Amino acid sequence: MTNQNADGVAVRATRSPTLRTRYEQMFPVLTLDEIERLRRFGTIRHYLDGQRLFETGDIGHGMFVLISGHVAISQHDGLGHVTPVVDQGPGQFLAEVGTLSGRAALVDVNAEGDVEALVIAPEDLRRLLVAEAELGERIVRALILRRVGLIETEASGPVLIGSPTSADVIRLENFLSRNGHPHHLLDPDADPEAAELIVRYAPGAGELPLVISSDGAVLRNPQIAELARVLGMIAQSDGKKLYDVAVVGSGPAGLATAVYAASEGLSVVVLDSKAFGGQAGASARIENYLGFPTGISGQALAGRAFVQAQKFGAEILIPVEVKSVDCSRANGALALNVGNGGRIRARSLVIATGARYRRPAIENLETFEGRGVWYWASPIEAQLCSGEEVILVGGGNSAGQAAVFLSGHATKVTILVRGDGVAHSMSRYLVDRIAATSSIDVMTHSEIVALSGSPEHGLEKVLWRNRRSGAEVTNAIRNVFLFVGADPATTWLSDCGVALNKTGFVITGARRCELAAEGAMNALETSVPGVFAVGDVRAGSVKRVGAAIGEGAQVVPALHSFLADASVPTRDSPRAPLGE
Ligand SMILES: Cc1cc2nc3c(=O)[nH]c(=O)nc-3n(C[C@H](O)[C@H](O)[C@H](O)COP(=O)(O)OP(=O)(O)OC[C@H]3O[C@@H](n4cnc5c(N)ncnc54)[C@H](O)[C@@H]3O)c2cc1C
Repeated sequence: MTNQNADGVAVRATRSPTLRTRYEQMFPVLTLDEIERLRRFGTIRHYLDGQRLFETGDIGHGMFVLISGHVAISQHDGLGHVTPVVDQGPGQFLAEVGTLSGRAALVDVNAEGDVEALVIAPEDLRRLLVAEAELGERIVRALILRRVGLIETEASGPVLIGSPTSADVIRLENFLSRNGHPHHLLDPDADPEAAELIVRYAPGAGELPLVISSDGAVLRNPQIAELARVLGMIAQSDGKKLYDVAVVGSGPAGLATAVYAASEGLSVVVLDSKAFGGQAGASARIENYLGFPTGISGQALAGRAFVQAQKFGAEILIPVEVKSVDCSRANGALALNVGNGGRIRARSLVIATGARYRRPAIENLETFEGRGVWYWASPIEAQLCSGEEVILVGGGNSAGQAAVFLSGHATKVTILVRGDGVAHSMSRYLVDRIAATSSIDVMTHSEIVALSGSPEHGLEKVLWRNRRSGAEVTNAIRNVFLFVGADPATTWLSDCGVALNKTGFVITGARRCELAAEGAMNALETSVPGVFAVGDVRAGSVKRVGAAIGEGAQVVPALHSFLADASVPTRDSPRAPLGE
């Protein structure tokens, strides 16, 4: 089926509402004058009728601006399904969010007739976006909407084959969704094609789900790092580059540091072990962040910052866990160990690793993690609770938000708190909303005592107790949400000598007294010169998105001043590339 838009350009109907409703913003047509202004950023190339401009999986292909001729864009998955997306003609451009950082292409593009195109490499595209503010804004909007469209159509990216309730399916889906990567899931119980594939590949015990990448490679229950590598999500870093600043953590604090530092001309690398957005990425709706009166999901806020940081040239490497850091500056630079001999060198370091969810002392808890015990409430978990009763533990704002969000899916949400209530620990607006929602109950002085079920079937029953009366209740509950606070993610700092407080948070500003005579200490600098900490990981920080972002901005002048004084280290001998 083919739709025609106002320009007469063919738009094939797809499952993407964004593609149907926001066509003009997704596929703007540049004027001749605008194309002239872009010429200095690229080179002209010619393609013959039927020739491929680029295909799914191609790395670093850059943006193509069509000068003349037409192209057809389509998506394909590893099962051989091809979905036409759109045709593009003169004045239109081919790129999406991943193009900014040279990530693998998610579509195939073929010339329909002879084509002349201006090809702009990823680094030149980033220069263009900064140099051409108004045009850059339109291009960035198009790139973001196109990624949204690719996710909505579910026609590119890897195909996951497995049960939607399997812990490993949820683990992989969470990773792909949190990183905005298109994918789709086929349930062998409902889809004959998926069932056939399981017969064909005969996965052994523990080998489900299968993941079939767009080039047909079959992975069996892969680890996140393997999946990311096969999908071309991890950019290459040769381990030789010396960055002005390495930011560890891409939650709100790390992303804000990256945006401000990169926009002020520093070379920045950001590393995160899981996904951009950190804890905030798990928030269904943030209502207290300035400028969003109707609220914004943490993922949407972080997704914008992720693109913004790349626009200014920050290199973002996900998933890459920093295992340790050598702060001896043996060759003048700090060295971040990212495992398997991979190393990142930087003149300064910003610790933005936030906090990790706390696990209450409940026997068997680990057995049910990912099988009914959750530390966040995204639409993926909410779907699993549809029409069921759930338990939520915790009395803070994140617990309140999750309760309100889940009440839209579950029949009943029971909040268990150990204290008198939630009024002293939760923002007023959430307390009021909980009080006004008849399907949310708050049980005070209560705690979970036992969980039962099986690794195969997940959580089945929960026993909880009133700590005052001793009364116990057992109920058939398949989903428990734990929001009982978080511990700082600082174990990777043990070799660096950064001072931590009793509970493991990074102390900053501590050298102020010692260095009073020099007057050089910054409030965000740690006990190690050139190493700074921002956001939730910092002792005494306000655990809020706004505060984390503010500290990300605040640390940048301190970085400038440190880098201006510090000598430039010498390059040391090349080491293994990242991830080798
Ligand atoms: C469910 C929920 C809802 C919330 N709602 C709100 C709200 O409505 N309003 C509000 O103001 N605040 C809210 N918060 C709090 C807010 O999200 C945090 O204060 C904020 O995210 C802290 O940002 P951060 O960047 O300091 O750290 P984090 O968000 O914790 O990010 C840290 C990042 O570092 C990465 N990391 C950790 N260790 C390593 C390592 N060794 N190597 C590489 N990467 C690593 C992690 O993967 C993570 O992505 C909420 C929190 C949660 C959990």
